[in-house]
Amino acid sequence: MSEVLIIAEHDGARLNPSTARCVTCASQIEGARITIGLWGSGIAAIAAQAAALQGVARVLSFDAPGNAAPLAAVLAPQVAALAKAYTHVLAPSTTFGKDLLPRIAALLNLPALSDIMAVESPQRFRRPIYAGNAILTVEVDAPLVLATVRTASFQAAPAGGSAPVEAGEVSVAPPTHTRLVELAVTHSDRPDLQTARRVVSGGRALGSAEKFQSVVQDLADALGAAVGASRAAVDAGYAANDLQVGQTGKIIAPDLYIALGISGAIQHMTGIKDARTIVAINKDADAPIFEAADIGLVGDLFEIVPALRAAIQSRSRT
Ligand SMILES: Cc1cc2nc3c(=O)[nH]c(=O)nc-3n(C[C@H](O)[C@H](O)[C@H](O)COP(=O)(O)OP(=O)(O)OC[C@H]3O[C@@H](n4cnc5c(N)ncnc54)[C@H](O)[C@@H]3O)c2cc1C
Repeated sequence: MSEVLIIAEHDGARLNPSTARCVTCASQIEGARITIGLWGSGIAAIAAQAAALQGVARVLSFDAPGNAAPLAAVLAPQVAALAKAYTHVLAPSTTFGKDLLPRIAALLNLPALSDIMAVESPQRFRRPIYAGNAILTVEVDAPLVLATVRTASFQAAPAGGSAPVEAGEVSVAPPTHTRLVELAVTHSDRPDLQTARRVVSGGRALGSAEKFQSVVQDLADALGAAVGASRAAVDAGYAANDLQVGQTGKIIAPDLYIALGISGAIQHMTGIKDARTIVAINKDADAPIFEAADIGLVGDLFEIVPALRAAIQSRSRT
C-alpha cells in the first residue's frame, strides 16, 4: 500500500486544476491511497471540490487564519511534520509546487524529484531533461518520495467522488522570518495560461508591446483563449514575464496552440510538446516551428492575423 499525500493548490476560492492532474498521477502508483492536503483559511468549499475528485480517499483540511497565504515558509514545516505517515508527497510542477517541494525536502534531508511525467513503479519515475529531448528514468532510494508532477503529462481526474473531509492537525510554530507583505495579482478576464484549452502566443516578430496587445491579445480574445509569449517577446518587454511559455516559463497542454512569429526554438517547444494542435504563422518557411506544427501558414502575421480575425468575426455574426 502506498500512502500518497497531494498538496493542493488553490486561489482561496477554487481548487487549481493542477491538483486533479496530480490525482491521476498518484492513482498510477500501485496500491495508492490518496489523501489531498489542503492548507488555507475559510476553505470548506475548496475542500468539497477536492473531495469530489475520483480516486481521492480523503481530504485533510488545515483551515486556519495562519495558512491564508500559500507561503512555502509557512506550509513546508507543516507538511514535513506530517510526512512520515506517507510514502509519497506530491505537488504540481507549478510555481506553487516548485517553491514548496524543495523546501520540504530540505527540512527532511531527503532528495526531491521534479517533473514526473510517468510512473513506472512506486519508486521509479520518468522525467524529461534537456528541454524534453531526453527522458530520464529515476529510481528514488529513500523512504519517502517527494516529487513535483508535470501536470501537462496527466489528464485531470474527473469529478464524481465523495471522499470524507477531515480537519487536519499539525502543531508547528509559524515562522518568524517570513510573512506576506502584499499580493499583487493581475486581474484578467482571459483564461489562465496554464490551464486554458486555447492559447495564442506571440514572439519577437511582434516588434512592440502595442503590437503584441493589438495583434496577439485581440486574436486571443476573439477565440476565448489565454495569451502566451516566447522568451524573446518577454525579454523585449512586449509581454509580462508570467506569460512566458517554455523551458523556463510555463509548460502547457492546450487543445489548440497558435504561435505568431515564433521561430520554434527547442526551449520554447518543450513548453508546448503536449499541445494537441499547433498552428504556426511565420514568414520563414524554414522556421523550426513548422516541423512540430499541425497547421502551418507561411506569411506575414500582420496580414494573416487581421484576415483570420475578420473571418472569425464574420462567422460569429452568422
Ligand atoms: C536556458 C534557456 C532557456 C530558455 N527558455 C525559453 C523559454 O522558456 N521560452 C522561450 O520561448 N524561449 C526560451 N529561450 C530562448 C529561445 O532559445 C529563443 O531565443 C526564443 O524562444 C526565441 O523567441 P522567438 O521565437 O520569439 O524569436 P526569434 O527566434 O527571433 O524568432 C522570431 C520569428 O518570427 C518570424 N517573423 C518575423 N517577422 C515576422 C512576421 N512579420 N510575420 C511572421 N513571422 C515573422 C521569424 O521568421 C522568426 O522565425 C531559452 C533560452 C535558453 C538559453
